[in-house]
Amino acid sequence: MAIVTPIKPELSSAPLLRVDGVSLEYRTPRHVVRATHRVSFDVHTGERFVLLGASGCGKSTLLKAIAGFLAPVEGEIRLDGQAVRGPGPDRIVVFQEFDQLPPWKTVRENVAFPLLASRTAGRREALERADHWLAKVGLARFGDVHPHQLSGGMKQRVAIARALAMQPRVLLMDEPFAALDALTRRRMQEELLALWDEARFTLVFVTHSIEEALVVGTRIGVLSPHPGRMRAEINSHDFGLDSEGAAFQAATRRIHGLLFDDQAPQAAGPQRRTA
Ligand code: ADP
Ligand code: MG
Repeated sequence: MAIVTPIKPELSSAPLLRVDGVSLEYRTPRHVVRATHRVSFDVHTGERFVLLGASGCGKSTLLKAIAGFLAPVEGEIRLDGQAVRGPGPDRIVVFQEFDQLPPWKTVRENVAFPLLASRTAGRREALERADHWLAKVGLARFGDVHPHQLSGGMKQRVAIARALAMQPRVLLMDEPFAALDALTRRRMQEELLALWDEARFTLVFVTHSIEEALVVGTRIGVLSPHPGRMRAEINSHDFGLDSEGAAFQAATRRIHGLLFDDQAPQAAGPQRRTA
């Protein structure tokens, strides 16, 4: 069964992204909330790594830390061997919310803006790159409209185009399709995989949906409920958009057990990545 096959060693030995024993906390004068506890995982170039866990287990907090908005209280995050010390244009986040696009800018200006703000490109090149990526996400004809004229799915396509136009080392996506209806969500998953086939970017994708994790990911890190700990890593290479098969159903059941059954960590022992 696909899910119990050992994780294949990656072609390049050094990971692009290393999350090593990372604990994350929110501190207020009265409380300390531990969001994740000693979470470790590696992501190699060109992988689609999914962080899967129940609501409140610290997925968004982990993504914020990778993006550089929050520093670990314990452990370290390294990109290309360099400790992450703050945000940078090499890590771009696509969020769930449809309002992540400034409404007063046209779609083209929205996509071009980070290129200009980070001085990655001059105005002419930024607009050219914006048009290129808008075409890739099927919005070639929508450059001149404003975000409020678009559907939720189209807004998420703009956010994806804006992120990919920056050519980040790692694309971070925080439940980007969770607020979409089921049919649009499935189409967006297909489109994301098609874009990946073409551009082979490195992806860290957060979701609470087991099915979405299996469809989108080449590897899945399963987090325990709050505070998030890494329960298991699962090789999901063999699952694509066909989610009807018996193997897919069996994988879904097994991951469900890992997510919610307290006995699961022992049962999952052999799947854990030790290297
Ligand atoms: P997820 O994305 O997996 O749903 P989050 O990373 O948003 O989880 O949250 C993890 C934990 O941290 C939760 O218990 C949540 O209540 C808490 N948390 C999130 N943001 C804050 C914040 N700004 N201040 C205090 N606690 C927070
Ligand atoms: Mg979240």
